[in-house]
Amino acid sequence: MSGVLENDTQKTFYLETFGCQMNVHDSEKVIGTLVHEGYRRVETVEEAGLILYNTCSIRDKAEQKVFHRLADYKKLQAQGKRFGVLGCVAQQEGEKIFERAPHVSLVCGSASYRKLPEMLARIEAPVQAGKTEAGTTGSRTTGAGKREAGELVRITGLDDRQTDECFETEFTARSNPHRGYITIIEGCDKFCSYCVVPFTRGKERSRTSDSVLAEAKRMADAGYTEIQLLGQNVNSYKDSAGKKSFAELLAAVGEIPGIRRVRFTTSHPRDFGRDIVEAIDAVPTLCDHVHLPVQTGSNRMLDAMQRLYTREQYMERIAWIKAAKRQISITTDVIVGFPGETEDDFAETLSLLDEVGYDSVFSFKYSPRPNTPSLVLDDAIPDEEKARRLEVMMARQKGIQTTRNQKQLGEILEVMVEGKNETRGQWIGRTSQNKTLNFTAPAGTNPTPGTYVSVIATASFPNSLVGEMVV
Ligand code: SAM
Ligand code: SF4
Repeated sequence: MSGVLENDTQKTFYLETFGCQMNVHDSEKVIGTLVHEGYRRVETVEEAGLILYNTCSIRDKAEQKVFHRLADYKKLQAQGKRFGVLGCVAQQEGEKIFERAPHVSLVCGSASYRKLPEMLARIEAPVQAGKTEAGTTGSRTTGAGKREAGELVRITGLDDRQTDECFETEFTARSNPHRGYITIIEGCDKFCSYCVVPFTRGKERSRTSDSVLAEAKRMADAGYTEIQLLGQNVNSYKDSAGKKSFAELLAAVGEIPGIRRVRFTTSHPRDFGRDIVEAIDAVPTLCDHVHLPVQTGSNRMLDAMQRLYTREQYMERIAWIKAAKRQISITTDVIVGFPGETEDDFAETLSLLDEVGYDSVFSFKYSPRPNTPSLVLDDAIPDEEKARRLEVMMARQKGIQTTRNQKQLGEILEVMVEGKNETRGQWIGRTSQNKTLNFTAPAGTNPTPGTYVSVIATASFPNSLVGEMVV
């Protein structure tokens, strides 16, 4: 291989992202940062000099996927390729990753991403025999000591839980030119008994409202019309400069000229105030959608999960949302098969689905996670039983969604055009309520992605609507 090619390969990277929207957006910031450093993103592992995985450890399955990927491509290390593990598995497993996957050179948690350029320079620098590799890049760094030529340099950038840093960067490479994410709060202090997030993402820390608004204005100036504010608990936002509440920030983003839609996810029931519903009613650009994870309908299970609210308190928030002037769509997350969950507890979750009437439910089988208090609980539910409950729940919810979507037939809905399904000859749109609406358009019209059009709903399915564009 020629020197030029070698150099070219070293400066290319492949990045695969696992997990939630926060991770997707972190990856956009990592990509922006690397491109600024002169790296070029490529679409395949084979083309890349540097292979990065931005990982998720919320459930065991997500975590195992990363180790499978690393094993699949292990042999490529012989070609001089470097491997890095970023995100939640990196933070959770730390240096243990080097034991399980010895071809990995970089392990970096999300609060250390700003140090990536420095860390990458160290793992990519040619090694001279006997030279001492010293210094610390992350809060904790390995790789010190005498090194042999060709030896793999290993760096960890792990965050202590006390960090105040949010990963803000001017180099974000957003993947969509019309709608984009802004992280307004990172971390979590709630410590639900089943959840790794407080351990992987650290303590709760919010950006200033000035910094969020400045980013939103830059996006509006660049042509973005939809903004989604992100946080593990987005509504636990506390302006670090003390200027705006979460609801006031929502309204202020919605009032930026050029912004037509503002979404926010994920809201935590404990911090969900009436003022959020009032803001949605008052500011038309705030979308008609609240994602409010409940986890279970049983007070006994809510207590065991350490959610610190009751079903009744949750339903009070649902009542505020339903009392709004606008038709606000409600979606949720549910965990089935938490240790000790009885048939009665599960029946309460099913009755809650009926009572609320969600437009969508993300349902998960309980997955025991390291460090969490629920890991040591007795009364584990067998996996087949968890799977059965999940199936029962999904069938129940499918019926609810079918009925709810049918009720929208005949409504004229504004959608943002997302693209076209050529095989079906239909355009794909998304409503303010975050529903997919596939539609046909009159001959001669060609709705372009990022534009907004009106569509009349003419058919419905459990997970989507179908319609015709109204001109
Ligand atoms: N902060 C949000 C809240 O508490 O409402 C949720 C954020 S969490 C990243 C996303 C979802 O993952 C949770 O709502 C929960 O349903 C699910 N989850 C978290 N830990 C889990 C576990 N150990 N097993 C199964 N699902 C889990
Ligand atoms: Fe996890 Fe609970 Fe924090 Fe949500 S609130 S991220 S479920 S610990």
